[in-house]
Amino acid sequence: MPGETKQAKAARLEKVVVALDRTYPEAHCELDHQSPLELLIATILSAQCTDKRVNVVTQDLFRHYHSAADYAKAPLAELEQAIKTTGFFRNKARNIKAACAAIVEKHGGQVPQTMEELIQLGGVGRKTANVVLGNAFGINVGVVVDTHVARLSFRLGLTKNSAPEKIERDLMALVPQKKWALFSHLLIWHGRRRCFARKPDCAHCEVLKLCPRIGVKEKLATNAHK
Ligand code: SF4
Repeated sequence: MPGETKQAKAARLEKVVVALDRTYPEAHCELDHQSPLELLIATILSAQCTDKRVNVVTQDLFRHYHSAADYAKAPLAELEQAIKTTGFFRNKARNIKAACAAIVEKHGGQVPQTMEELIQLGGVGRKTANVVLGNAFGINVGVVVDTHVARLSFRLGLTKNSAPEKIERDLMALVPQKKWALFSHLLIWHGRRRCFARKPDCAHCEVLKLCPRIGVKEKLATNAHK
């Protein structure tokens, strides 16, 4: 809150995490997957698309393609058709093929487990790499910053930045490393269920007393803060 020290902010954030963890004890990555490769593909497909739609598409996709070599060898038009309803399908199909070809050529068909190697794969950025490392391998090297994490971090006064890399840096300085993956899940779940982009439901929010509501225009009912 106004004039808050870094220590005070970290202490407040710890309380936010406890409250959200209590609210969403089952918080997890909502993209269906059975392997690191499936999570990588699902995450590439999730750009500008809901997890729900991605899960519908991958149900068939994962039945059809099983290995990185399968995607690398697939005719581009066939792959485009299979993922069409996730939007931006031409780019996504190209990225999937490029990433899978690199996985086959440079990593023996296995998804690599370091940030440096992952972001060298075509079409894989830091966010996708963080999702795969944190959820498929349990490795916390960064914080996933998607649209929900960015919005909630701003409203909660955890960052003043809007560029994902800068938000990630701010969050990495505040959240203990072992909680980075969990922290993103909690903010994403809260963003989907309470702290909506357009009309956040602050009156019923589980962390209302801990939140400065930065940038939120909606007025609160007078007894909501009690
Ligand atoms: S109080 Fe409002 S702005 Fe803050 S986290 Fe809750 S819903 Fe979001």
